[in-house]
Amino acid sequence: MRLQLSPEDQKFREEMREFFTTQIPERIRSKVIARQELSKEEMVESQQILNAAGLAVPGWPLEWGGKDWSQLQRHIWHEEMQLAGVPQPLAFNASMVGPVIANFASQELKERFLAKTANLDIWWAQGFSEPDAGSDLASLRTTAVREGDEYVVNGQKTWTTLGQYGDWIFMLVRTDPAAPKKQQGISFLLIDMTTPGVTVRPIELIDGGFEVNEVFFDNVRVPVGNLVGEENAGWTYAKFLLGNERVGIAQVGASQRHLATAKEIAKERGVLDRFASRIVSLESELLALETTALRVAAHSDGGKPHPASSVLKIKGSVLIQAVSELLMDIEGPAATTSWNSRVFLNNRKVSIFGGSNEVQRTIIAGTILGL
Ligand SMILES: Cc1cc2nc3c(=O)[nH]c(=O)nc-3n(C[C@H](O)[C@H](O)[C@H](O)COP(=O)(O)OP(=O)(O)OC[C@H]3O[C@@H](n4cnc5c(N)ncnc54)[C@H](O)[C@@H]3O)c2cc1C
Repeated sequence: MRLQLSPEDQKFREEMREFFTTQIPERIRSKVIARQELSKEEMVESQQILNAAGLAVPGWPLEWGGKDWSQLQRHIWHEEMQLAGVPQPLAFNASMVGPVIANFASQELKERFLAKTANLDIWWAQGFSEPDAGSDLASLRTTAVREGDEYVVNGQKTWTTLGQYGDWIFMLVRTDPAAPKKQQGISFLLIDMTTPGVTVRPIELIDGGFEVNEVFFDNVRVPVGNLVGEENAGWTYAKFLLGNERVGIAQVGASQRHLATAKEIAKERGVLDRFASRIVSLESELLALETTALRVAAHSDGGKPHPASSVLKIKGSVLIQAVSELLMDIEGPAATTSWNSRVFLNNRKVSIFGGSNEVQRTIIAGTILGL
């Protein structure tokens, strides 16, 4: 099955493809296609090229650099970017804190942050999880106590992805420990990571990489003006952000590209027959997921993600892992020392971050199936 696009959408697809494959440097795209790590500079360079062409944050409100695109056009933009090996705009900026600021923050914060966030002049990190507050995020204990015009922040965040590059961190902090429900005492605060008292400590992952960190806050003084929206209303903004985070995790285009690579390698090694049924079944599942992604996009209105984003998160992460496992199997024993094994190990994370798949199943049971 192929998606039948109207002539206008087909033209749009070709324009996107042309831009991505000619304007984003080949040296960056070939690293993405080979699934190698990009440096901070390469990610910034790529996002700034996209932003200069108005292609970094199409989902944002028009006045802040968004586009008046249909959901289908947004889907095509995203898919073509992945197929061309273009690094996606940094999710922390483009699909997490940016939309929260645009939808819920004061005009002053919008003016201060949105343009720089779109252009990756500021690199944002996500400070949600804590050692005892991952799936049960509302149990977070990092406190922000108001003293005059400042909050004094104390506590620890963990699993902060690429926090070593972070200029600023968007945080969930407890501002009312006495609130009747733990969700009610949480606020959404923006913190400059160069403020005295902020310490970033790397965590080594199973693949030997250092992409996550612990971040410690020791009497960090933050202007009250850095609060997003209302005090103690942070849980509402966090739920909005987490729904957007899940939509982006499906990575259908990237999985399709990796599957095509697996097929090529199997052909080169003369083992295509042996892996044909797995390849075909993964191809079908990816097409089905692509259709689901379109349905979710079509039913997301007012910038709010549809609860089925949890379905995309689960299935997308399962397929990312299945494709990297297939690549290992095609390579056979040689995979143990190849780059693919590192990718395979690194991809263990995708069923955990953005809310673990077990927890997403509970969300589906409650909000979609009504169980
Ligand atoms: C590589 C990586 C990058 C990350 N990046 C960031 C980041 O940048 N910023 C950030 O804030 N966070 C980040 N996270 C944190 C991530 O969101 C959490 O790891 C995730 O929410 C799970 O929380 P936890 O690790 O505390 O596991 P736990 O909540 O302790 O869960 C452990 C196990 O128990 C299961 N479980 C827990 N509760 C339930 C339940 N109610 N029903 C059924 N099963 C349950 C879980 O599914 C899991 O299998 C990252 C995590 C990883 C692994």
